[in-house]
Amino acid sequence: MLRAIYPGSFDPVTYGHLDIIRRSSILVDHLIVGVLNNNAKMPLFSVEERVKMLEDVTKTLSNVEIVPFDGLLVDFAKKMDAGVVIRGLRAITDFEYELQMSQTNHKLGPDVETIFLTTNIEYSYLSSTTVKEIAAFGGDITQFVPEVVKDELERKMKAKRRV
Ligand code: ADP
Repeated sequence: MLRAIYPGSFDPVTYGHLDIIRRSSILVDHLIVGVLNNNAKMPLFSVEERVKMLEDVTKTLSNVEIVPFDGLLVDFAKKMDAGVVIRGLRAITDFEYELQMSQTNHKLGPDVETIFLTTNIEYSYLSSTTVKEIAAFGGDITQFVPEVVKDELERKMKAKRRV
């Protein structure tokens, strides 16, 4: 039984992430989407909010589970009994960081392999950061994120404008 982890901040989940989740859920028996609880990154959404949105948009995928985590990825992988880490590669700019991470993780946990899925060309430009920027300026994000995420993002931006 192949168990894999797809880790990330997912602040918030975009169609680019969802595409990687769908495609990897076909490749493995069980996919754990690991939601990083790292306040140093100053996320817009709390880890609970990010988990809830991910649960919502993956509810039709029966072998996908959403689990928050902190600490080292290799420790989380061991705890979840997962031998594979999945990461998405958008452009050459992702490559250097991802290579470094996967090699470091392999040193820390030699039993954990990283598999990269290249982005669907349709979403190669898409990042949570860009989506947040567009939303902050009141732009239309319909084509970048699922409806529930759009609603949550707009609600969050409105609340921010009030403070
Ligand atoms: P992190 O903070 O760990 O980079 P992200 O939530 O930004 O977390 O991304 C999680 C993973 O999803 C990373 O492997 C990233 O490269 C991948 N990813 C993000 N956006 C896209 C996209 N549009 N297409 C494919 N993969 C993506």
